[in-house]
Amino acid sequence: MDRISVIVPCYNEQEAIPIFYNEISKTADSLRQKAEIQILFVNDGSKDASLAEMKKLAEQDSRVKYVSFSRNFGKEAAMYAGLSYADGDYVAIMDVDLQDPPSLLPEMYRIITEEPYDSVATRRVTRKGEPPIRSFFARRFYAMMHRLSKTDIVDGARDYRLMTRQFVNELLRLGEYNRFSKGLFGWVGFETKWLEYENVERSAGETKWSFWKLLLYSVEGIVGFTTAPLAMAAFLGIFFCLVAFLALCFIIVRTLMFGDPVSGWPSMTCIIIFIGGIQLFCIGILGEYLAKTYMETKHRPIFICKETNVEQAGEEKK
Ligand code: UDP
Ligand code: MG
Repeated sequence: MDRISVIVPCYNEQEAIPIFYNEISKTADSLRQKAEIQILFVNDGSKDASLAEMKKLAEQDSRVKYVSFSRNFGKEAAMYAGLSYADGDYVAIMDVDLQDPPSLLPEMYRIITEEPYDSVATRRVTRKGEPPIRSFFARRFYAMMHRLSKTDIVDGARDYRLMTRQFVNELLRLGEYNRFSKGLFGWVGFETKWLEYENVERSAGETKWSFWKLLLYSVEGIVGFTTAPLAMAAFLGIFFCLVAFLALCFIIVRTLMFGDPVSGWPSMTCIIIFIGGIQLFCIGILGEYLAKTYMETKHRPIFICKETNVEQAGEEKK
């Protein structure tokens, strides 16, 4: 019988965990004939009773495993940890708030086993219930990434997907520190089937992503998957050289024809400030890439596990 590991990143989700457990148990029952399910909670440094909830469930149910971080490392790190601890033949990633409906899992499992796909992914076709400003910027981001990056990053794509062991092993080889999974999934390639569904609102608790956090995350996506902004900076430089050259010709001709009355210093100030702004912007772009490179070269671990009930090969149970 196949084993499906379900990775569930959790950050301050004490209310959502029991609700999630009930739902996933129903799904596990419906799959009972074909596959067994392992639930792998990743406690991403929660400050509430999430870890206690996980331990309680683990005591009642041997299918429940948990990995607990020493602090909050972010959802990307939690997913990576989950992938490295999961030992199923198939691995799924699912949010704990039921925005990734567990009821889709049997269908995903059917597709991955019966059809020639290496992963079954999901995308939301609506963003119902989300603040309009957030939806607007999300759409702009995906449209821009589509144009700038060779890697396929799908609009509305969730991190919710079921993958084969081979797919997971390849993902684990991408050990970069600055992670943007939606891009990494596309980067490894293979055949992916997309399932579409309507947005579901959170079961309990509230979203952990502020607008600011999402904005920084989108920079992660851009810097991680395209170097187009660097080319843009160079292009801007050439453009301004050209403009300056034309302006120079104009001024020389004008001075020869009409003399040189001193005027125009306000416009000069504006130009200087404008060019200064463009230069800082370009240095900023450069700095962003440099900063990411700097973080990568430190080779810091992506996460630190404080405690777990997963028995890893060669390691004693903690
Ligand atoms: N999450 C996490 N670490 C974080 C932030 C979020 O593990 O630093 C988890 C969170 O518990 C949830 C999932 O990531 O299971 C998605 O988060 P959320 O529902 O807040 O995001 P949204 O659905 O609003 O995009
Ligand atoms: Mg959510």
